[in-house]
Amino acid sequence: MDRKISIAIDGFSSCGKSTMAKSLAKRLSYIYIDTGAMYRAVTLYALREGLLRDGQLDEEGLKARLDEIDIRFCCNSQGLSQVCLDGENVEGQIRGMAVSNGVSIVAQVPAVREKMVLLQRQIAARKGTVMDGRDIGTVVLPDAELKIFVTAQARVRAQRRYDELKAKGQEASFDEIVKNIEMRDQMDLNRAVSPLRQAPDALVLDNSFMTLEEQDAWLNEKVEEVLHGNR
Ligand code: C5P
Repeated sequence: MDRKISIAIDGFSSCGKSTMAKSLAKRLSYIYIDTGAMYRAVTLYALREGLLRDGQLDEEGLKARLDEIDIRFCCNSQGLSQVCLDGENVEGQIRGMAVSNGVSIVAQVPAVREKMVLLQRQIAARKGTVMDGRDIGTVVLPDAELKIFVTAQARVRAQRRYDELKAKGQEASFDEIVKNIEMRDQMDLNRAVSPLRQAPDALVLDNSFMTLEEQDAWLNEKVEEVLHGNR
């Protein structure tokens, strides 16, 4: 039987981590876990329950309800893995600006991170996973056999996010997106618990000027090296 490994993909917001991770998981027939979607789902919960208003989080209120929040991945009719909040597929609601503006605040709460990390480790307990996030190689799966740290210039990332929202027919302002990305970079880098860091053994991928095909080729080469024991 083929050897299965864990692959950790970390990096800045809107670097295309999830596109990359999804296509890699599909090619390898691995499970893909979008950990950002989990933090986004908690943020949606906080917004719906009035615990997050105008950028102010009722941290104690959220902590008191954490045990009630049911987050899991479910398959949609096309077999794609989607995040579900209390049994509802919320994939369509977690990508808009309201959640994007609040998520880094919610993701700073240690109790939220503890719950998410536990869930992520449970899902990844079987090998054969590709997980993307900010702290996967450093905290969630420090023993992952392959760790990638992705980066790209902020304006390139903003353009990608803008195109993505427009393609979905959602309202978007380029300047607002640049601000949001820069704000999330700062919060993710500077938070006290599990800040965004490159693991010492991670390989850096700057995809600012790479096509998707070039990126896939780069990634496939790294996976092959690990699977065949050359790394
Ligand atoms: O990956 P995505 O941009 O959807 O993540 C949304 C936010 O969730 C990030 O800006 C970050 O604040 C938080 N996050 C995190 N740790 C992860 C994944 C995401 O703190 N492992």
